[in-house]
Amino acid sequence: MPRKALDLTNQEFGRLVAIKTVGKARSGNYIWHCKCECGNTKDVLAGNLVCGAIRSCGCLTKENYRIWSEKRREEGLTGGSYKHWKAHRIHGNSDKVEVVEV
Ligand SMILES: [Zn+2]
Repeated sequence: MPRKALDLTNQEFGRLVAIKTVGKARSGNYIWHCKCECGNTKDVLAGNLVCGAIRSCGCLTKENYRIWSEKRREEGLTGGSYKHWKAHRIHGNSDKVEVVEV
């Protein structure tokens, strides 16, 4: 039995607005053509929209990463993945360079 398409037209999912279905994945999930707030478009599986897995064309992830990495930078060098950093520039001020022993 073919599954009925969930009508997501004009519904907002984070930064994305579902425009129309453009196809169907092998899983039976419909693929929605979405427009992102930033102006990009992206084709996303309905399931990923509904469960909130995808909420932007990718720009949100990039921004979140930038915010996260800036926050980590402000918090210092205590994080595990930062241990290998030998020198670290704080707030872009070259007068404040911390040297960390590995
Ligand atoms: Zn975007």
